Amino acid sequence: MSKEDIVKKIEIIKNDRNAVILAHNYQPPEIQDIADHLGDSLELSRIASKLENEVIVFCGVHFMAETAAILSPEKKVILPDRTAGCPMADMLSDGELASLKARHPDAIVVSYVNSSAKVKALTDICCTSANAIDVVKSVAEDREIIFGPDHYLGSWVAEQTGRNMIIWNGYCPSHQLIGVREIEALKNRHPDALVMVHPEASKEVVSAADAVLGTGGMIRFAGESNAKTFIVGTEVGMVYRLQKEYPDKTFIPASPRAVCDNMKKITLEKVLASLERLEPVITVEPEIADKARNAIERMIETGR
Ligand code: 13P
Ligand code: SF4
Repeated sequence: MSKEDIVKKIEIIKNDRNAVILAHNYQPPEIQDIADHLGDSLELSRIASKLENEVIVFCGVHFMAETAAILSPEKKVILPDRTAGCPMADMLSDGELASLKARHPDAIVVSYVNSSAKVKALTDICCTSANAIDVVKSVAEDREIIFGPDHYLGSWVAEQTGRNMIIWNGYCPSHQLIGVREIEALKNRHPDALVMVHPEASKEVVSAADAVLGTGGMIRFAGESNAKTFIVGTEVGMVYRLQKEYPDKTFIPASPRAVCDNMKKITLEKVLASLERLEPVITVEPEIADKARNAIERMIETGR
């Protein structure tokens, strides 16, 4: 079947099934092009919580679909490839978080949304890179904060807020591939370019940035800035998203090696197959979902 035929078939079955396609900004171009809603983790969670459709096809990674399933237990949430996970989310288990909590019984737990449902069930409030600073600021000043799994996001937020945080040692393997030397070389070649970097990148890379932003923040920043050229320090899928949004500006990946293989597991063929079969469905045990929902709802309500 040609690509055009697959896209047409997806459109027909999607309407028959009363389904909606959500896609993260790192998705491959052909997936971004068929999405009903495209966005960052926070935007997609907020959208998922309000949708009327019976079926949500989540083109992203497992924790994103799981978050949508927790918010809408009555809906079928489909992840077109069940194996599309997030290695960073796997770096903190519920057992590890439980023992950290036992050692700091008065601490408030702030978890990055890139975490499992079981970790969220032990969490007071979740955050994304878009609202992590606001979430941490919302915690009473006299309370200790446990933050995980991302060490780099956690350290950056601690620095920005001046809060003393107990931070887990997880990281994103894709963002760690972005190097400060590459950024400096690109800056020499494009002296007028602004550098936008995701807070999952290393401390040295973040220090070399003009702006530290989540993926939704990058879209707003590029639109509002007078600059014409941007060096983009995050997963490479973001460059397609930005270029499509602002065709008159130029976006250069800080590192072409910063690819999230899990995000790229979603293909048009898999989206079509998942709509035809209505699987793989992502479910969360009600007992875990009920505990995790409160932390996710607090995340959705915090920040802009
Ligand atoms: P955003 O929330 O900025 O879209 O990032 C999600 C993510 O997984 C970054 O690696
Ligand atoms: Fe996880 Fe990194 Fe992929 Fe984001 S880019 S989904 S943090 S592995």
